[in-house]
Amino acid sequence: MANHTRTFEFVDVVLELDGYSARAIREIYTHIIGTSRLQASTRYINYENMDYFIPPKISNNSEALKAYTELMEQVKETYKILAALDIPQEDTANILPLGHTTKIAFKINARALIHLAHLRLCSRAYHEVRQLIKDIKQALSELDNREDGQGWDYIAYHMTPKCVSLGYCDEAKSCGIRPLKKEII
Ligand SMILES: Cc1cc2nc3c(=O)[nH]c(=O)nc-3n(C[C@H](O)[C@H](O)[C@H](O)COP(=O)(O)OP(=O)(O)OC[C@H]3O[C@@H](n4cnc5c(N)ncnc54)[C@H](O)[C@@H]3O)c2cc1C
Repeated sequence: MANHTRTFEFVDVVLELDGYSARAIREIYTHIIGTSRLQASTRYINYENMDYFIPPKISNNSEALKAYTELMEQVKETYKILAALDIPQEDTANILPLGHTTKIAFKINARALIHLAHLRLCSRAYHEVRQLIKDIKQALSELDNREDGQGWDYIAYHMTPKCVSLGYCDEAKSCGIRPLKKEII
């Protein structure tokens, strides 16, 4: 495959994204071009035992962790109370926090995936979303590859922060991977 972005559009990547927070998935949803998605129902799926994402800065702080998990556990309790009161799941779902983990099927063509990685591997993107993209990149790298190096590894190779592709940082402040544009031109 040549490094022409039009040819990348003919490669579809179909992913099951499971265990990421609804908040991270919401950010993935802002990427529209070249994508299709299906999401787990909040009407038919029971979330009384929902899992939830715990950011490292919270898990590493015992007081913060206590406050955070208490609230999440309270949500689960309230979910059960409402179920016992015959409130349908589609209404109870309004209490689910953005941090609850969910599952989606996500189809994206390789050109759009590389664009998504450019934006979401940038250090300005939220760390859970950066991790999600790193996980996709890792999964692609682990797929069987062609002898000529033009297989999935080739797509993964192009999944970099945008500054690596541009050669400079186009944000207001550089994290240091690449210098600001004004510093090199
Ligand atoms: C660090 C970070 C912070 C963000 N913060 C916010 C936020 O606070 N609020 C928020 O709402 N979003 C936020 N976003 C989302 C961002 O604004 C984009 O919606 C998202 O990154 C998708 O990018 P995109 O439009 O390039 O992708 P896609 O929708 O996949 O589009 C791909 C490309 O197609 C072209 N294109 C797409 N749509 C059109 C169109 N209608 N007309 C012409 N050309 C088009 C553009 O060239 C675009 O880059 C954030 C993103 C990042 C990375």
